[in-house]
Amino acid sequence: MRIVLLGAPGSGKGTQAALMVERLGMPHISTGVLLRNAADRGAELGLKAKSIIDKGELVPDEIMTDMIEERLSRPDVANGFILDGYPRNLAQAKSLDVMLKRLGQPADIAIQLDVDADQIVKRLAGRAELEGRADDNQDVVRNRMRVYHEKTARVIDYYANRGLLTHVLGDGKIAEVLERILSALSVDHSIP
Ligand code: ADP
Repeated sequence: MRIVLLGAPGSGKGTQAALMVERLGMPHISTGVLLRNAADRGAELGLKAKSIIDKGELVPDEIMTDMIEERLSRPDVANGFILDGYPRNLAQAKSLDVMLKRLGQPADIAIQLDVDADQIVKRLAGRAELEGRADDNQDVVRNRMRVYHEKTARVIDYYANRGLLTHVLGDGKIAEVLERILSALSVDHSIP
């Protein structure tokens, strides 16, 4: 199964994707993680990206498209994947379609995790304290939310128009949200 996970910053995509990996046994591909790893390695591209990420802006599409294409070309993707953080605008959504078609691996479903704005602000403030991510400080979070509403929210309609979109309520306990996602995927989600 090839899954595109959508949702605002702080909607819980990363948390849910990690749990989905355990249950579904396929790779979690997070562009945020790929970018932060590249920066930690001191890779030139990663360092360039870091200054953009720390402002809450989007890294240029060419960089992201190359990065995601390289990742999607690896053999483990043959079992399906959970894509998190890409696409983040319409151009990326179109590139992804072309890329996946070329690889013979079109997306099966897009899941939009719906969480209300107040909840998101609370969660990101909590994460800033726990993880100390430079892009979780208040001004940057505000910018990330603006970018999300101006650019990323359009991706939801893109998948809706293709008949691939399912909304899942991202409020509540982590385990409950996971169950909702697994139901949306029609996977047997009873705890073994
Ligand atoms: P969140 O979803 O909480 O914003 P991520 O870890 O997914 O966190 O992303 C962190 C940052 O990495 C984004 O704010 C953005 O700067 C950059 N980034 C991640 N994915 C993309 C992408 N597809 N296109 C452009 N920039 C991206």
